Amino acid sequence: MANIILLGPPGAGKGTQAKRLVDERAMVQLSTGDMLREAKTSGTEMGKRVAEVMARGDLVTDEIVIGLIAEKLTQGAAGGFIFDGFPRTLKQADALAGLLTSKGLTMDAAIELVVDDAALVGRIVKRAEDAKAAGQDVRHDDTPAVFEVRLRAYYKQTAPLIGYYWAKQSLVQIDGMADKDAVAAAIFKVIGKS
Ligand code: AMP
Repeated sequence: MANIILLGPPGAGKGTQAKRLVDERAMVQLSTGDMLREAKTSGTEMGKRVAEVMARGDLVTDEIVIGLIAEKLTQGAAGGFIFDGFPRTLKQADALAGLLTSKGLTMDAAIELVVDDAALVGRIVKRAEDAKAAGQDVRHDDTPAVFEVRLRAYYKQTAPLIGYYWAKQSLVQIDGMADKDAVAAAIFKVIGKS
């Protein structure tokens, strides 16, 4: 059992890799992006409040996402938790550390998917096209213009977490530009050791 964080800019492949870990390692994926989209779709008060912020590509407040994660951590996860898209700020990272400690859990690794920014817009556009072709919902924030805001938010607010986890000796960097199977194999290797 391992608890891991997947770090990386939008389009780095966090969601794709998290789904594999769920299927192949019985881990539980905690994606704050998915939780927020669900709240939006179901029309909850919170969903309505965050819709505009998400459409712009900015981050929603720390309080909201920390609350969502705290709720989910009350359930168990035999294979461990995958934190996907959380934490995204230093405040969220500190809150996560506190929550895990209070549950007697540890963080085994913060895995950074290292990618080439120039390739990311292409990936995002492709994700939107694939979703459309498959008749699935297309994310409103998967457009080049909103992507740029999301990328800036990443560098300003989330990228400092790379140093944070490095200092905690939890950081593992993986080449996110490799093909999906190779990235998965690299992640499995990290988890296998923990
Ligand atoms: P994602 O699916 O992870 O790309 O998230 C989609 C959007 O949800 C982001 O652009 C933010 O507006 C919001 N969001 C998701 N996770 C967080 C988080 N941990 N902190 C703040 N905002 C978040």
